[in-house]
Order: sequence, then structure tokens, then C-alpha cells
Amino acid sequence: MHDLVTDAPSPSLPAAVVLDLDGVLADTRHRMHFIERRPKDWDGFFTAAVHDPVHPEGLALARSAADRGRAVVYLSGRPERTRRDTVEWLRRQGAPDGEVLLRRDDDRRPARVVKIGHLRRLNERFDVQVLVDDDPEVVRAVRMAHPRLVDEVMLADWQPREAALHRAQEREGRT
Ligand SMILES: [Mg+2]
Repeated sequence: MHDLVTDAPSPSLPAAVVLDLDGVLADTRHRMHFIERRPKDWDGFFTAAVHDPVHPEGLALARSAADRGRAVVYLSGRPERTRRDTVEWLRRQGAPDGEVLLRRDDDRRPARVVKIGHLRRLNERFDVQVLVDDDPEVVRAVRMAHPRLVDEVMLADWQPREAALHRAQEREGRT
């Protein structure tokens, strides 16, 4: 006998809020100089992330999501090799526990492509309610994605946008 509701989305998926790190929770401005020089020093850029100040606006969003019972997922264009530092940094800031999704070390695709791939997989496990990201290209691409990946996409605007980082994300797929 056919089950007509097999393909319907499960109503029981837990609700999740997805937050970018760099420019949303983490203030990256002190380390931009590593990638504004030539040649770019990517190792220096990522190594210095342990010293990032926290953005109170981003931390407040993560905490309020957790307080309201949402699963918190951190979705960053940082490479996997930064995982240990990233998890430790989140812990030190008092950020809520949550999955940390990073970029494969050999993955050079634009941030928006990598993040949409993660969001598609997240949708199999969560009702993804909100994505917060400071990259207008990511925000635009996620808003236009079909099928719809997120109920609401928020552009974080509390860190002034850095031209060098934007170029890196779009053209070099490095962060
Ligand atoms: Mg960002």
C-alpha cells in the first residue's frame, strides 16, 4: 500500500537557528591585515582568530535562540583545520553549545556555494528557521535558493564590511 505522505516534510524536526561566525559572532577586523598584504597570509589570518573580540549582537542572538529552545548551528567559511580553535573560542565567549559546520580544507568554492550545501543537508535534520550572515552574497543566494532553505535570512550589519574579505570569499574561496 502506498504511503501518500512519505515525501511530506516531517513536522517533528527540531527548530534550528544558524549563525555565521566571522563578522557575526567574531570581530575579525584586527586580523584583516593578514589578507590585505601580498602575498596573503592565510595561516596568519586564521591563527589570529583565537584573539577575535566577540560581537555582542551576534552572541545575544545565539543565546536568545538557545533560550527559546532552538538548536544553534554555527556555519562558517573557516577551514576545518581551525575547528579546535573555533570550538574553544566559542566556549570562552560563553556561546551556547551547537554544531560547528566548517569548510573542508581543500574546498575553494565561494562561501555562498559551500553554505548552501550545508543548509541543504541541515534541512534533512532541522526546521531551519533563521540564518544570520554578514555576507550579502550569501544572504542573496540563500534567499533565492529553491526549494526554500530557511524561513528568514538576516543580514548582520554590525561589522563594517571589509572589501578584501569579500573579494577573498567570492573569488578565492578561502574564508
Ligand atoms: Mg561572515
